[in-house]
Amino acid sequence: MPNVFELELRRPPDLYLQAGHAIRLTHQAYQRYYSPISAPDDGRLRLCIRIINPQGLASYLSTAEIGSSIGICGPFGYFNFSPSSRSPVFIATDTGVAPFVSMVRSGVAGFTMLQGARSEKELFYRDLFESHARKYVPCICDTPNDDIEQCDRYHRKLVDTLKEHIEPGQYDFYLCGWQKMIKSVTNIVDTLYPHSHVYTEVFY
Ligand SMILES: Cc1cc2nc3c(=O)[nH]c(=O)nc-3n(C[C@H](O)[C@H](O)[C@H](O)COP(=O)(O)OP(=O)(O)OC[C@H]3O[C@@H](n4cnc5c(N)ncnc54)[C@H](O)[C@@H]3O)c2cc1C
Repeated sequence: MPNVFELELRRPPDLYLQAGHAIRLTHQAYQRYYSPISAPDDGRLRLCIRIINPQGLASYLSTAEIGSSIGICGPFGYFNFSPSSRSPVFIATDTGVAPFVSMVRSGVAGFTMLQGARSEKELFYRDLFESHARKYVPCICDTPNDDIEQCDRYHRKLVDTLKEHIEPGQYDFYLCGWQKMIKSVTNIVDTLYPHSHVYTEVFY
C-alpha cells in the first residue's frame, strides 16, 4: 500500500533554490527528483514523498537512519511563480502540491487552488492553502492508472470542477503532478480560458 511521508535534509550551503525548483537525490544506482516543500531560505530541505515502488529510492528514504548521507544536486526546472496581471490558478494532484507549498511558504498568496487527491485525508497541506488562497477547491477522485474508464472519469471530474469554480477569463495556470491531468487541463484551458498562460511540472 503506497504511503506518504515528510523527509528533512540538511541543506548543502551552496545550493541556491527558488520556490518551485526541484532537486535530485542520488543513492547508489538510484536517482529521483523532488520538489522541496520548504521555503527557499529555510536552513533545512523538507520534502513530501510518496512511496510507489517498494524497491525504489523513496522506500529507502523512508527507512534511512538519521545521519545517513545522500547525494543532493540542483536546482532543476523552471516551475517558479511569476506574478502578472492575470490571476494565478494552481492545480495539483497528489504530491504535486509540493512546489505550491514552497511558494506559499515564500510569501505567495491570493491564488485559486484546485487540489486533486484520492481521499479527504490525502488533501495534504490543505490548511496552509486554505489560509493563503483567495479560493480553495478540493477535488476528490481516485488517481487513475492507465484504465481508460478511470481516466475519463477523472478527466470529467476535473473539467466539471474547473468550469464550476473558475469563471471565464485569462489566468496564469500552474499545473503539477500527474502528466495526464496536465494534458487534460491544458486542453481545457485552450478551449475555456483562451490567452491564459500555462506553466507545468510533470512528476509522474
Ligand atoms: C521534477 C520532479 C519533481 C518531483 N517531486 C516529487 C515530490 O516532491 N514528491 C514525490 O513524492 N515525488 C516527486 N517526484 C516523483 C519522484 O521522483 C519519484 O518518482 C517518486 O518518489 C516515486 O519514487 P519510487 O522510487 O518509489 O518509485 P519510482 O520507481 O520512481 O516510480 C514507480 C512508478 O510510479 C510513478 N509515480 C511516481 N510518483 C507517483 C505518484 N505520486 N502517484 C502515482 N504514480 C507515481 C512513476 O512514474 C513510475 O512509473 C518528482 C518527479 C519529478 C520529475
